[in-house]
Amino acid sequence: MSKGGGFLTPKSIANRIKAKGLTKLKFYCQVCEKACRDANGFKCHITSESHQRQMLLVAANPGRYIHSFSDQFKQDFLSVLSHSHGTKRMFANQVYQEYIADRNHLHMNATRWTSLSEFVKHLGREGICHVEETERGWYITWIDNSPKALERQANSFLLLKKKRSS
Ligand SMILES: [Zn+2]
Repeated sequence: MSKGGGFLTPKSIANRIKAKGLTKLKFYCQVCEKACRDANGFKCHITSESHQRQMLLVAANPGRYIHSFSDQFKQDFLSVLSHSHGTKRMFANQVYQEYIADRNHLHMNATRWTSLSEFVKHLGREGICHVEETERGWYITWIDNSPKALERQANSFLLLKKKRSS
């Protein structure tokens, strides 16, 4: 469990979603998956009955929501990375920009990660990517562990061995 991810009370998660919704999120409510036009619209939204009802569901089980949002975020981010760039070394922020260019993307503030670098470090810890911190920021390289890729690796290793021994 990453720092700060496991100890949120229902109230603090509600506040977190609300507060970030007003600042970083450009007035998007992740819980309802609703985008509002401006601060006023957002204010209206969070006092609406449908939002309140949704928040009660979240409050009843905040861990489950954070967990599934985090999973979804990771899955979508990695699909951008692996489909567009394969195992090329990439500037993490560039991949993130590509990820959020999809207007239906899941916002990071609904996940357990409070920043991109925290998320990148998680990918490194899990062995999903090679990660490197530079002065410019983080670089990530996707590690392809699919059976196909492993087979490819094994084959090229065998070929190399054959070549060397002949
Ligand atoms: Zn809402």
